[in-house]
Amino acid sequence: MTTQRDSIDIQLAETGNTTAPGSAERVAAASAGNTAAGSDRKNLFDLDRVQLEDFFEEVLGEKRYRAHQVMKWIHHRYVTDFNDMTDLGKALRGKLEQHAQVRAPMVIFDKPSTDGTHKWLLGMDPKNAIEAVFIPDKGRGTLCVSSQVGCALNCQFCSTATQGFNRNLSTAEIIGQVWVAARHLGNVPHIQRKLTNVVMMGMGEPLANFDNVVRAMSIMRDDLGYGLANKRVTLSTAGMVPMIDKLGEVSDVSLAVSLHAPNDELRTELVPLNKKYPIAELMAACERYVRRKPRSSITFEYTLMKGVNDQPTHARQLARLMRQFDNAVQMKDAAKVNLIPFNPFPGTRFERSEESDIRAFQKLLLDSHVLTMVRRTRGDDIDAACGQLKGQVMDRTRRQAEFRKHLAQQEAGDAAA
Ligand code: SF4
Repeated sequence: MTTQRDSIDIQLAETGNTTAPGSAERVAAASAGNTAAGSDRKNLFDLDRVQLEDFFEEVLGEKRYRAHQVMKWIHHRYVTDFNDMTDLGKALRGKLEQHAQVRAPMVIFDKPSTDGTHKWLLGMDPKNAIEAVFIPDKGRGTLCVSSQVGCALNCQFCSTATQGFNRNLSTAEIIGQVWVAARHLGNVPHIQRKLTNVVMMGMGEPLANFDNVVRAMSIMRDDLGYGLANKRVTLSTAGMVPMIDKLGEVSDVSLAVSLHAPNDELRTELVPLNKKYPIAELMAACERYVRRKPRSSITFEYTLMKGVNDQPTHARQLARLMRQFDNAVQMKDAAKVNLIPFNPFPGTRFERSEESDIRAFQKLLLDSHVLTMVRRTRGDDIDAACGQLKGQVMDRTRRQAEFRKHLAQQEAGDAAA
């Protein structure tokens, strides 16, 4: 979910949109090594602890605990060459070389910031690339991770949606984003923690790629992986109701919900998925999620768009919804609201709300005893803020072509005016 990610302030080492001319060639070139390297050998990034133990036992004929050593080499020390895993015997290293590989996503380019913020364009295959963003803040460092190449859900205010959809990311491609960022930061789990939080809020709807996302999140939380506490891994969904229940059965991660509107009519317009899972069903699923995990809360993301969903009447409806939720689960502040000023992108019909309207909206919620924060918006000038991740998507839907046509018509209209 790109809309919920915290915003960033990047001073570009390399300016311009990630889909600038020439990037297709760079995706292909940079990713060539990604796909060519021994695809019949198992990529160990794809395996969580239990699966890796199984692999050691069943494929390599080794003791299960040996898998733990390899996990530490990969996720704590960022070593991908088995020959450099010096506490493994020569024979084991040989077997690993024959049957396995550790293949991270290819960094096509990254954009550093003076404040430590970082954005990566990562090649996933010769035609597709996704974006991941690291956002440092007081005492914490959050990585925003993508779950799909593009997104099929078509939320109207989201830049990713204009790219269309290609495919789900594998577990390796998801955890690989964490690995690339953690290595860059010099993160050492349990010792020198630079990466403190991961949010599944980048490109894609994570619950539409359930198994791979859940497996990747288990590596993020594993002590042999990145050792993050459950509450420090957040999955953000547009509201896939059955999958919220399924997530509650298998995982304890924090949940964020992209609400963006306080009533069904408006929400269906902004988030088409609402037609299938309207607000009442969504809130009921959230209640079930919280009931399974006492003392947890849910963050409701609300992107504020000028004249669309930012009026006092919307704030009052939202406050009512949030209070109903607190009452239903019998917990104060079970519902938290994150207000995100909309980040415009080329071709969008929406505008950012006026600052005075944002403050008034927040005040109305706070006065109604709803815990409400406003996210600072930075990086919108470089397409790096919330809702602006694009990557490079070989669209398998018609949406990208339609959006380009719309853009061309808009530009022609502007020129004629
Ligand atoms: S289209 Fe919706 S679900 Fe998909 S990435 Fe954008 S905001 Fe998230």
